[in-house]
Amino acid sequence: MRSRLTTRLESARLPGFEDEPESPRATGPALKASVLFPLPLPEPFDYRIPEGLKASPGDHVLAPIGARLVRGCVWAVSQSPTVDNLKPIAEILPGPPLPEETRRFLDWAAKFLVASPGKILSMVVRSEEALRDPTFTLVYAPSGGAVGKITEARARVLSEAAKEAVAPAELARRAGVSAGVVKGLIETGALVGSRRLDDPPFPNPDLGREGRALSPTQQDAAAVLIRAVAKREFAPILLDGVTGSGKTEVYLEAVAAALAMEPDAQVLVLLPEIALTQAVLARFQERFGAAPVEWHSAIGQRARRRAWREVAAGRARLVVGARSALFLPFPNLKLIVIDEEHDGSYKQDDGVAYHARDLSVARAKLGGCAIVMASATPSLETLMNAKSGRYEHVVLKARHGAALLPAIELVDLRETPPEKGRWLSPKLAVAAAEALANGEQALFYINRRGYAPLTLCRACGHRMVSPDTESWLVEHRYSGRLVCHVTGFSMPRPKECPHCLACDSFVAIGPGVERVEEEVRDLFPQARVEIFSSDTAPDGESVRALVNRMAAGEIDILIGTQIVAKGHNFPRLTMVGVVDADIGLKGGDLRAGERTFQLLSQVAGRAGRADRPGRALIQTYAPDHEAMQALKRQDRDAFLEAEAAMREQAGMPPYGRLAAVIVAGPSDALASAAADHIGEKAPLAHGVDVWGPAPAPLGVIRGQHRKRFLIRADRNIDLSAFMAAWMARIKVPSTIRVQVDMEPYSFL
Ligand code: ADP
Repeated sequence: MRSRLTTRLESARLPGFEDEPESPRATGPALKASVLFPLPLPEPFDYRIPEGLKASPGDHVLAPIGARLVRGCVWAVSQSPTVDNLKPIAEILPGPPLPEETRRFLDWAAKFLVASPGKILSMVVRSEEALRDPTFTLVYAPSGGAVGKITEARARVLSEAAKEAVAPAELARRAGVSAGVVKGLIETGALVGSRRLDDPPFPNPDLGREGRALSPTQQDAAAVLIRAVAKREFAPILLDGVTGSGKTEVYLEAVAAALAMEPDAQVLVLLPEIALTQAVLARFQERFGAAPVEWHSAIGQRARRRAWREVAAGRARLVVGARSALFLPFPNLKLIVIDEEHDGSYKQDDGVAYHARDLSVARAKLGGCAIVMASATPSLETLMNAKSGRYEHVVLKARHGAALLPAIELVDLRETPPEKGRWLSPKLAVAAAEALANGEQALFYINRRGYAPLTLCRACGHRMVSPDTESWLVEHRYSGRLVCHVTGFSMPRPKECPHCLACDSFVAIGPGVERVEEEVRDLFPQARVEIFSSDTAPDGESVRALVNRMAAGEIDILIGTQIVAKGHNFPRLTMVGVVDADIGLKGGDLRAGERTFQLLSQVAGRAGRADRPGRALIQTYAPDHEAMQALKRQDRDAFLEAEAAMREQAGMPPYGRLAAVIVAGPSDALASAAADHIGEKAPLAHGVDVWGPAPAPLGVIRGQHRKRFLIRADRNIDLSAFMAAWMARIKVPSTIRVQVDMEPYSFL
């Protein structure tokens, strides 16, 4: 019998996929299991399934590699005449097996990303603990029975235990008594113990609740999404709407519809920088009466174990997470939402390089479910897919209620420059003063942390650079240090130039948030000024506190990096001044213009909400750049069309495909030799260009010397297959690391 899952998959097969034959049930000794290990191995290893053990694909097992027992996952079970020569599987772990969809997705991702399946498995299953039997803690609550002699200490313990049943040690700590007091109460029977699951299930979303009353356009948009969910097949949608148009409200309705489909239906919502944007989580909680299951780097080991176990068991229904949540083993996924689909944080560059948006689309295809990509400034790739009809395009034009989009004005720094040594042109200062005079707030945006990006010796011209990367050290005046923003290396700002030994000869070149703050304080001595960057708000809690202070009007002028662009709602903010719009255009990578446009529209979108119209002033030396002109005219589509035409001509994504190879080694000579060898082994193929090896712009990181190749291919070419064939031919020493990035976004 074929499962419902297999039938669905047939209509949504992905390239590079073969149909998996049904595995025979494991019953006797003549069966072998292919076991995939979370290690960088090219394929699964074969083992004998010993008599008495029942192993099926997806089961987690322990099996020997050499003298060690290693955790792995059964990939296939088959009959084999040579099974007696194989080592046996040692143990089957009791945890929930990996669903078939997850295994298929993993196989596909390994092929697509040119990574070993084992490495992807290590991203899917992070710890063995989640695969062990659930653990319990003995917790104690008052029995209501006789206490014996009542002392004040005993009374305190009983009162604490009545609030919450906890373990004896914790109870003693909360009541501020010795362990003996608690023990005494347990012995008299005044406290009774019960077993509490360490990883309890999460509360179910309450689907009886109603969302906000939607406007007619919002209702129409929600209806399209809900219809797509109901199809129970692959249905990609771009939800395209200006900031504040209610995209979140609309997709929450689709989430509700998906969850209502089946008692164990699951939904995944990906958010960028989720650890910092807890406000959205509160909206989920409000809508469904229970907090969603969170998955991101800040949640801690135990929360991860619990979330993983509950997702795999099909009990965690609504998961809100960062990009890696995509690798959670959902058995019954009905909808994926990618909020701010254009956001750069969906791309992972380290380890296995992947783009969570693109992989999510593949995941939705495999699972036969709907996927909603929401953005006010969609990526060119997604917009092109929408325009060509591959994705459904749902547009929300207006801001909800009376809110207006801000007026955007370019300030040509060639004509109206700031005074020497200053960064705010008179126009920006005046605009901020006007906002303050109206009892409103101003925001100055500069996407650079610290005081100044370059520290230069006036005497000899020496530039202070990082010993690890050769990149400029950024001065942080609050901490008095020079910091490498690539590796985090830092050192005190020296008094003497290390090169010419001149004393006090350093000058700060260029602005960062701290320097703009200095100028703002000078211009507005009465104003309450704060900096918003990952230095002043390093975690979710401090971000929340700062955002609340701003929203409550306790700050007059905020100076922020891109962290301010992320969906915060400041009702009294009416003036946004972009100090240096050109920062992102430098470096000239493929998406520089696109990214600058996205970020600046997002930042400008912070101005004016509800009944207060806003304005945004953008300082630039390149007012004629397409990105700046499009911002001014608020004509996103014209900008993207110009950008698309440029990319089409160059055969760049989305009209062609890119890949990168990064070669890193302990010395320049070793890295160069390896890169040359790799270059020689590149297969010749029509429609594929291989550029390199070239020194990477970040030539050295933490002692590793780096070289890069960039590969461009025509759209119809299977670039993954080309790269796999290439990588199979190379032989490099073990000190050399070769990383393939199938969709490079960073060209460093
Ligand atoms: P987006 O995700 O497009 O930026 P949001 O969904 O966050 O927009 O909506 C912007 C603001 O408007 C939020 O504070 C939201 O609660 C409010 N809002 C949007 N739609 C409605 C609605 N139908 N009823 C009440 N408030 C709404």
